[in-house]
Amino acid sequence: MNQLLVHNPATAELIATLPADDDSSVADKAQRARAALPGWRAMPVVEREACIARFAALVKAQIEPLAVVMTRETGKPIQMSRNELNGFLGRIDFFLAQIESSVQTETVFDDGGMTEQIEHTPLGLVANISAWNYPWFVGGNVFVPALLTGNVVLYKPSEFATLSGLEMARLLHEAGVPKDVFIPLVGGGAVGAALMEQDIDGLFFTGSYATGARIARILGPRMVKMQLELGGKDPTYVCEDADVNNAAASLADGAMYNTGQSCCSVERIYVHESIYDAFVAHFVETVKGFKIGDPMDNDTYIGAITRAPQLDVLDAQVADALAKGATLLCGGKRLKGPGLGYAPTVFSDVNHSMELMREESFGPIIGIQKVANDEEAVQLMNDTRYGLTAGVFTPNRTRAEKLLAQINAGSVYWNCCDRVSPRLPWSGHGDSGMGLTLSTYGIQTFTRPKAWHLRKP
Ligand code: NAD
Repeated sequence: MNQLLVHNPATAELIATLPADDDSSVADKAQRARAALPGWRAMPVVEREACIARFAALVKAQIEPLAVVMTRETGKPIQMSRNELNGFLGRIDFFLAQIESSVQTETVFDDGGMTEQIEHTPLGLVANISAWNYPWFVGGNVFVPALLTGNVVLYKPSEFATLSGLEMARLLHEAGVPKDVFIPLVGGGAVGAALMEQDIDGLFFTGSYATGARIARILGPRMVKMQLELGGKDPTYVCEDADVNNAAASLADGAMYNTGQSCCSVERIYVHESIYDAFVAHFVETVKGFKIGDPMDNDTYIGAITRAPQLDVLDAQVADALAKGATLLCGGKRLKGPGLGYAPTVFSDVNHSMELMREESFGPIIGIQKVANDEEAVQLMNDTRYGLTAGVFTPNRTRAEKLLAQINAGSVYWNCCDRVSPRLPWSGHGDSGMGLTLSTYGIQTFTRPKAWHLRKP
C-alpha cells in the first residue's frame, strides 16, 4: 500500500504515516463523488448552507487543536495558524451571506412575450489540487463556495498539509456533508496527476507556475474548466512623500509574514532615492526584531521553511545577488538544524539582473532597489512575468491611483500589502495564473451560466 510520510519541518521529526491513494483508489473516489452529485445538487441551498454553518461552528470550537496540526506539519508560527483559522471563518461568513443572491436566477429581459433568464447551474464534479502555505484559506476558497453551489468535491491537499486537509474532511462530514460529496485524496504529485485523469467538470489549482503549466497542457484539449492560482513576484514602490517608518514596518511584515511563504508576500521593494537610506535602515531594524524560533511558541515570528528544496532556491538567490554586487544587510544563510530554517535576509543595491528580483523566492528574503522617479518605478514593477499584487506607499491617493492603474496585477494596494479580502476577487495576471476565487465572482465561478430564452405561446 502507498504511504505518505509527514514530517515536522521545524524538528525533522516524523509525525504521521498515512495510507495514500493510488490510481485505482482515485478512480473509485471519482466514481463515488459522481454518484453523489444528483442528491447534493438537488438539495435546497438552505440545507447546504446549514451544513457549512455547522462546519464553521466546529472549526471555531477547535481552533487551537487545528492550529497545532497546521503548525506541526507546515512549521507556520502558531499565532499565524490561529490567525488563518479565524480569517477562514470570516471568509465562510462572507460566502454564507452572499450565496443566495449570487446564484439566484436572473431575469435580464422581459417584454411580456419574451423572457430571458440566466440560471447558475453547478459545474458538477470539482477537483481541487491545493498548496500547503495557507491550507485552510486556499482550500476553503474553493471547497466552501463549490459545495454551497451544489458541486461535489475531490480535494487533494498538498502532501505538506495533508493532516489539515483530513481535518477539513472530518469536520465537513461531522457537519452533515455526505462522505461522498467531499472526498479527500492523500498523496503527492502522482495522485494529483491521477485526479486529472478522471471525468471531472472543473479543476481548481493553487500552487507553483511549473505545476500549473503542466496541468494546463494536459487539461486544455479536454475543455475542462480550469482555474490556476500561481506564484508571484509582488512589488511595492515607496514614494519620497511616504511615512518612512510606517512603510518600512508594514513592508517588513509583508515580506516576512509566514516566513515569506505567501503567494502575495512582498518580494520586491523600490524606494525613491531621496528616502532610500532611511527606509533601508528602518526596514533592517524591523527585520532584526523579528523573533526566530520554535513555531509552537506564541511569540515566534519566523518559523520553518516547509519544503527542503526551497532552501536551495534561497541559497542560489543569495549567491547570485552577492556575485552581482548586492549588499547583504542581514541573514543570507540557513539556520542550524535539525529543522529547515532560513535567516531573514535583506539585500540593498539590487537590480533586475539578479534572480532575487526576478523569480519567486518564497522565503524570508527581500531585495530593496533605489529608483529615481515614478516612471522608473512603474517600469520596474511591470518588468516581470508575474502579476499577482502590487502596492504603492504615499499619502497622495491620486498619485497612488495613477501609478497603480499602470500596473499589471490582479490586486493593487495603497499604503498596505500582503492582504486578501473575501469581498474582492483574487486573481493573477501573466504567469500568476488564470481565473479567480473570492468575492461574488468567486461563488459564480463554480457555476455555469445557462441562458434561457422563453417565448410565451
Ligand atoms: P506545487 O506546484 O509544488 O504543488 C501544488 C499542488 O500540486 C500539490 O498538491 C502537489 O501535490 C500537486 N502536484 C504536483 N505535481 C503535480 C502534477 N504533476 N499533477 C497534478 N498535481 C500535482 O506548489 P506548492 O509548493 O504546494 O505551493 C507553492 C506555490 O503556490 C507558490 O508558487 C505560491 O506562490 C503558490 N500559491 C499561490 C496562491 C495564489 O492564490 N495565487 C496561493 C498559495 C500559494
